[in-house]
Amino acid sequence: MRGTDVDVKARVIAHHRAHRLVKTDSGDMCLANARTRGDTAVVGDNVLCTRVDDNTLCIESVQDRRSVLARTDRRGRNRILASNFDCIVVVTAPKPGIDRLIIDQYLVAAENIGVEPILLINKVDLLTPESENRFRIELECYKTCGCEVVFCSAHTPASLQPFLEILHGRVCIFVGPSGVGKSSLIQHCVPNREVTVGALSRSGLGSHTTVAAYWYETGDSGAVIDSPGVREFRVDHLGATDIARGFRDVYNAAADCKFHNCSHRHEPQCAVKTGVESGEIDATRYSNYLSLLADAEQSARH
Ligand code: GDP
Ligand code: ZN
Repeated sequence: MRGTDVDVKARVIAHHRAHRLVKTDSGDMCLANARTRGDTAVVGDNVLCTRVDDNTLCIESVQDRRSVLARTDRRGRNRILASNFDCIVVVTAPKPGIDRLIIDQYLVAAENIGVEPILLINKVDLLTPESENRFRIELECYKTCGCEVVFCSAHTPASLQPFLEILHGRVCIFVGPSGVGKSSLIQHCVPNREVTVGALSRSGLGSHTTVAAYWYETGDSGAVIDSPGVREFRVDHLGATDIARGFRDVYNAAADCKFHNCSHRHEPQCAVKTGVESGEIDATRYSNYLSLLADAEQSARH
């Protein structure tokens, strides 16, 4: 190994089975092989590589990740899907329907990952001004939990401007149920997707339809990570501790409960219940908290 060949710094920008396309610090796109079968570099990872030839690198190590999105596979193993993102955009829409429980599950996941959630209500073109206003009032509670709430329509590009400003310079991933408009939105956020897709087909990694995940630069030092696994990311096994930590409004109020281990169900002098009664804590959030907590306790017993 020549001294000058070590430590090529790169970012994994596409991933397909054992193969990765990486972009080096100097802007070259190269194929990168894993040194060992156990290598787990995922899209978003910063990696250190050695050079094999002009177009090929070998990944030697993965640098610390500031965030990861993971799910448990069929064999019960933890699989990392993507890394190094700053925010999770939770997409919902009046069609197929705004599901508050699904929103809250994603927000709990974001809190536990330690990244900022952004709630995006797409397809507002389908709403009357009155119903849009009702949703704005109903979803105001998310703002008090520190979550940005954006109303827009992927079919009306001008309505996306405030959202694009929020995303500026950040790395984000889009999650949410199928049919809410995630692919339509991603097309607007990444005007130059062909750059990555073109590099991909030249690299011999595969056609873009077979590739598992991408990192699309948005041209402002931000990026969108897109993959079917990330888009379909479901949150079905949150533990009781995750739930308690993941409802920011409930968690903050809990500091004033009489019992430090208050479950906020039936205990006396519970600041959370008082908050719900006074309207400070949204009643739907509270009932979603209770139902997710009950689910978590139930699955812990099995
Ligand atoms: P995904 O499954 O979340 O990726 O959703 P898609 O982007 O595939 O969109 C699902 C359907 O919703 C498609 O028929 C889109 O044309 C439609 N759609 C997406 N955004 C909007 C929108 O803002 N308004 C309306 N009316 N339809 C939309
Ligand atoms: Zn309590």
